[in-house]
Amino acid sequence: MPWCDTCDVYLAPNTVDVDGTCPTCHDEVDAADLQVPAPEEADVPWHFWVVLVALIGYLGWRAVAGVVWLVERL
Ligand SMILES: [Zn+2]
Repeated sequence: MPWCDTCDVYLAPNTVDVDGTCPTCHDEVDAADLQVPAPEEADVPWHFWVVLVALIGYLGWRAVAGVVWLVERL
C-alpha cells in the first residue's frame, strides 16, 4: 500500500497520481510497494490459447457437420 507521510494515510494504488505523488498534498508517496501492473505486463495465460484453439477446432468441426447436414437434405 502506498503511504503518504504528510497526510498520514494509506492510499489505494489507483488513487496515487501517475507521477507517484499524493492526490491531496502532491508530496511524493512511499511507493515501495506501489504495485500497479502496467497493461503490457498483464500477459495472457497459456491456457487461454489452449482453450481458444480448442474452441476454433470445435466450432470449425460443427460448421463442417452443419454443411454436411444441409447438403444431405438437398
Ligand atoms: Zn498526502
